[in-house]
Amino acid sequence: MKGPTHILALDQGTTSTRAVVFDQHARRVAMVQRELRQIFPQSGWVEHDPEEIWQAVREVLAGALASAGINAGDVLALGITNQRETVVVWDRVTGKPVHNAIVWQDRRTAGLCAEMVAAGHQESIQLKTGLVVDAYFSASKLRWLLDTIPGLRQRAMRGNALAGTIDSFLIWRLTGGQVHATDATNAARTMLFNIHTQQWDDDLLRIWGIPEAILPEVRDCNAQFGSIDAGMFGAPIPITGVAGDQHAAMAGQACFKAGMTKCTYGTGAFLLLNTGAQPVKSSQQLLTTLAYRLDGQSAYALEGSIFSAGSAVQWLRDGLKILESSGASQLMAAGLASNGGVYLVPAFTGLGAPYWDPDARAALMGVSRDTGPEHLARAALESVGYQTLDLLQAMEADGATPPRELRVDGGMVNNDWLCQFIADMAQCPVQRPVDTETTVRGAALLAGLGAGLYDDLDALANVWRAERTFQPLMQPAERDRLYDGWKTAVQRVLTR
Ligand code: ADP
Repeated sequence: MKGPTHILALDQGTTSTRAVVFDQHARRVAMVQRELRQIFPQSGWVEHDPEEIWQAVREVLAGALASAGINAGDVLALGITNQRETVVVWDRVTGKPVHNAIVWQDRRTAGLCAEMVAAGHQESIQLKTGLVVDAYFSASKLRWLLDTIPGLRQRAMRGNALAGTIDSFLIWRLTGGQVHATDATNAARTMLFNIHTQQWDDDLLRIWGIPEAILPEVRDCNAQFGSIDAGMFGAPIPITGVAGDQHAAMAGQACFKAGMTKCTYGTGAFLLLNTGAQPVKSSQQLLTTLAYRLDGQSAYALEGSIFSAGSAVQWLRDGLKILESSGASQLMAAGLASNGGVYLVPAFTGLGAPYWDPDARAALMGVSRDTGPEHLARAALESVGYQTLDLLQAMEADGATPPRELRVDGGMVNNDWLCQFIADMAQCPVQRPVDTETTVRGAALLAGLGAGLYDDLDALANVWRAERTFQPLMQPAERDRLYDGWKTAVQRVLTR
């Protein structure tokens, strides 16, 4: 008997929307992508047009099916992963957004968050959500919409307006308005969800002034989220996997056991360590979050974000114009016998975990007359290794078991020199998978789990393959010497 065999996965990211078709052996057979326009209405504000996202979603899904040469009827399930924290509010009847989506990067509610901290809410919010009070998360953005759009609060209380992260909005549209739901990982980034009780939290809703009626129902990552309306592609496609981007990448990297760690190196970098069934409260300004929730069982993670990773290389390429391409950084760095004492602290937009210093700015240190473009390239790549070690050490200080290996993905890991340097800093093996598109892959695997293509997490782990493992080669004393130089450089840019 031949039933549907393929899995369709959608990755709605900050800068692009892509759809990928995987065959029954989890091999990628088609990928279609559209760029997404960034809207900057004022300094520090960042928005997306939800209708443009929706249009792109329909195009890439249709395009991926066509490119794979299959029909909707050949698809077993759809998995969705998405940029996290970004908020949309729409009308229940018309489905029309009431405003552009407010993107996670948007800083318009920084003042509101500062008021929350001043009012003494930081500790209780962190205990319930695992998050540091910041404009980054959804709650303050949703509050801003409710306060700003005339009549919206009344419509929300009557159940006529609906809110959600991008996954919820897409599920609503794809199911033709049948399902208003989100998954637990996306909910965990709103700052309204209690990660211990796994519910929207009454105290948090009151503190932020959000009516519960506006929020979606929270389901497991491998739950049934309804089906794509048959009218859209000719046959219904069940939606059986949903997770926020970094959580999907955890699944794509098969980090299913406590201690397993992945880091995604793109424009910024995100390191997540699976802490198993127990959430670990951080004293190092890391975030406590859900790794995933499957069949009612939660696994937790510690998360650290690096604001500038690949963006430091982009700056050398596009700003200073001393690199022909991002990839050219590899040969330049490798051509030097040492870093020559040159350090770049890439605090272009402040420093993330474990520093959380939004006012810090970048600095280049140790420059002498023989410092050349190669030193800058090397310093940019080295900064990614040092920041990785900052996070690993913070996790250890929080009592987490140090990882036995670090699984890496994202655009930067094409750089072998960088992967080796990360292994040397972390002093543990760095594993690069065959498929480094782990986010969209994770969404597909979760959907496969939800649709019964895979029986359990072991089955998912079995389809993960290492392409190359980088073993640490540097002597620990040399590692410590280099890292001391980094810590000295960081001290010089911190503002508090
Ligand atoms: P994002 O998803 O955040 O847009 P990607 O995962 O596509 O990012 O990675 C792109 C980033 O990786 C860019 O900042 C680019 O400069 C950097 N990058 C890509 N290839 C290399 C390379 N070979 N060496 C160093 N940096 C690279």
